[in-house]
Amino acid sequence: MVGTKITEEQIQTVADQVQVHKFGGSSLADAYCYRRVARIVTEYAGASDLVVVSAAGDTTNRILAIIDAKEEAAHDEDSLGIAQVLLNQLKKYQQGLINDLLSGKHQERILELSEQDFDRWQGWLDGEEEITRRPELLSYGELWSARLLSALLIQQGITADYIDARTFLVADDAPEPFIRVEPSREALLERIAPHHGTRFIVTGFICRDPEGNSLILGRNGSDYSATLVGSLIDAKQVTIWKDVAGVYSADPRKVERVVSLPILDWQEAEELARLGSPVLHPRTFQPVNRERMVIAVRSSLKVENQQTRIGQYDDTEPRGKVLTALSEVVLFRVDLSDAKLVQQFEDLDLTPLISWNEVKQQHAYYAYHQNHLDFMTHWLEQVDVHDHVTQMSGYSMIAMVGNRIQETEEYQVFKRELSEQNLRRLSFSPDANAVIAILEQKLDNRLLNRVHSQIFNYRRSLGVLVVGRGNIGSAWLSLYRRLRERINEQMDVRIIGIVNSTRLWLDYNGVELTDWEDSFEQLAKPYEMSQLITELPNAPYDELVMLDLTDSIEVAQQYPSFFANGLHIISANKRAGASGEAQYNEIRTIQREYKREWYYNTTVGAGLPLNYALNDLRNQGDEIRSISGIFSGTMSWLFENFNADVKFSDLVREAKVRGLSEPDPREDLTCQDIVRKLLILAREIGLKLDWQDIDIDSLLPEHLEDISLEEFMQRLPELDDSMQDLYADAQKTGKVPRLLASFARQDDDYVRARVGIEYIPEGDMLANLIPGENIFVIYTDWYSEMPLVISGPGAGKEVTAGGVQSDLNQLLSRLSNRADD
Ligand code: ADP
Ligand code: ASP
Ligand code: MG
Repeated sequence: MVGTKITEEQIQTVADQVQVHKFGGSSLADAYCYRRVARIVTEYAGASDLVVVSAAGDTTNRILAIIDAKEEAAHDEDSLGIAQVLLNQLKKYQQGLINDLLSGKHQERILELSEQDFDRWQGWLDGEEEITRRPELLSYGELWSARLLSALLIQQGITADYIDARTFLVADDAPEPFIRVEPSREALLERIAPHHGTRFIVTGFICRDPEGNSLILGRNGSDYSATLVGSLIDAKQVTIWKDVAGVYSADPRKVERVVSLPILDWQEAEELARLGSPVLHPRTFQPVNRERMVIAVRSSLKVENQQTRIGQYDDTEPRGKVLTALSEVVLFRVDLSDAKLVQQFEDLDLTPLISWNEVKQQHAYYAYHQNHLDFMTHWLEQVDVHDHVTQMSGYSMIAMVGNRIQETEEYQVFKRELSEQNLRRLSFSPDANAVIAILEQKLDNRLLNRVHSQIFNYRRSLGVLVVGRGNIGSAWLSLYRRLRERINEQMDVRIIGIVNSTRLWLDYNGVELTDWEDSFEQLAKPYEMSQLITELPNAPYDELVMLDLTDSIEVAQQYPSFFANGLHIISANKRAGASGEAQYNEIRTIQREYKREWYYNTTVGAGLPLNYALNDLRNQGDEIRSISGIFSGTMSWLFENFNADVKFSDLVREAKVRGLSEPDPREDLTCQDIVRKLLILAREIGLKLDWQDIDIDSLLPEHLEDISLEEFMQRLPELDDSMQDLYADAQKTGKVPRLLASFARQDDDYVRARVGIEYIPEGDMLANLIPGENIFVIYTDWYSEMPLVISGPGAGKEVTAGGVQSDLNQLLSRLSNRADD
């Protein structure tokens, strides 16, 4: 029992009021991290809480490297120099932290202690001071961080102190030191109970043997230190602050789109740790009073994020929860005939990941994590093995943890996904809370990702790259924001990048669309389109789509490359769909070869449901005979407003000002824009057609073709006479001129296609459109007497954005129904 110095009441107060927090190396990697930890300690910890810390950043690894280099120096002189360099770097790192974080007398005090420590290290390196035990050197890492964090808190006016765990935590040396609980408990309580209101920073990872020699609790052992300290004082909660917001469905460094688990129960967490998941040290749960304590795992980087609580939960539904993997596993094959040896394996303290017998071949197998190889080799040297053990490497493990795993849906998927792999063994852990597969192959992250996404991401994901941030781009982005919830029903859709002709804003987590214009200004960087395309397949999505909302030839030329790199395309840009036949065929071939989707229904008639009507007719077995009409909103607007009293040049000027024409109105006047639409439409219904097959009447006199835009705008009135002549000519027969496009199937390989002025009777539907209106008059086998007519606005950013959205909806339903390639 606890000695005389403290009372039962004090012990009870400690148990009721003191909680334990633990910060690992990654939470203390630099000065910024330390400040964040200090803030957490003041805001999220009680005034008397205990804070267990690891060595800052990779200090433990650095120390090990110095020790190794010094040992190496026995047979390689250069190594001593290396050790010196490494020591200098370590000193610089540690003192850098002190200088960054502390000032004045606080800095002076801690720097002085640090100098003393490094003098001792230097003495050791120079052979003047003997430090024979690694644990003693390793202990410095934790000592430095505890000392520094407490000084930082004190400097901030908080009552704090640090405790070297070797002053209370006593253990007997063993591969896994055996803790002497009572004396340790007594010493700790004596140290802290009288100081209610002080935050104590305790070194993790280290303890001492009864003689006072330093011992370590194993790599990453501070999680264990934290629960150990927690159980010594009988705390109700231990919070383990990591760089992850809890325990996830898989290692987030290897697997995309992991989910954080709100709850794990003891058996699940213990099994996860036993299987070597780095998120929790295997011994973390050993000391825990499971009825009393809860362990919270949460993020020190993003405090507000979710956390995982590990405790006693009556989790009703069995469910596969965490996928965990080891890339290197060693098998020991033991002859079953050697019963004594088999028994020794069975009795070994270090339990294997999994073991099994193959009775026919008279073999027992024991699978161990590669990290335990040294221990096993050492152990086997002491055991009488004769030739009855064979060590086998080249194996890996993948496992899924969850209570009563065998009953779960997730197990079925796991088994199915691994059945095609080189499976050596698949079975359940002794307590049935994990299914473990040993593979006779290297493990790659792709396999892990695939299994994970099959098990956990029922919703597939789509990353969207928006190319072009002009009128249509902006309109679509605001439409997307409005419809986001609905769009996300089928798949997890995120905008991963916005691009204009010179700059790119890329964020694989999904760009934040609130004030996206400002963010674009600040965050977008110059880029190279071809480089971007080859980089995109790394985006962690099941599917990717590029929205081409430009009018750019350069972007259109890259379509094959987009397809070949796995992207689908939705275009409002006509350039690819209306490119020359050879180029068009190449785009289509690559698209088919890579099984990508390509939608461009807004390129003709903007948002009008033209494509739906045509597809529907064709699917019914009807045959399209001809389509004619006014395909251009600009031309519609110009001609519906034109008459004998109006100057055509004034109309063109006004159209440009109002954004109704292309920036260079000559694109419209040469009919290029209409020809593109005609080509797209004809190809859409399966006709072979190229530019030279189309009979085109340009409205632009040749002498105005090659001058600057500015000059052209000045010389616009040169159009007026001929346009007035045209109007007068039409009027002679009571008609008006209109710019019509038409194509008709003549026989199987001939298509008559024309774009140009035609005279239309004044009462005709085509002569009485609302300016800007498009009209498509469709004759088919079945609509042969009376055509099917679709008319409405054929341009405008809102309707076009809506059309793009309609294409995206089609893509989504296509993809979400499509099995994985
Ligand atoms: P500490 O800061 O305590 O030293 P570690 O870096 O040792 O923490 O361990 C946490 C790391 O474990 C995380 O950064 C994460 O990459 C990894 N990890 C592996 N599997 C998981 C998992 N299932 N859930 C959360 N983290 C995991
Ligand atoms: N600093 C020790 C290590 O790196 C202990 C820990 O991080 O938990 O292994
Ligand atoms: Mg660690």
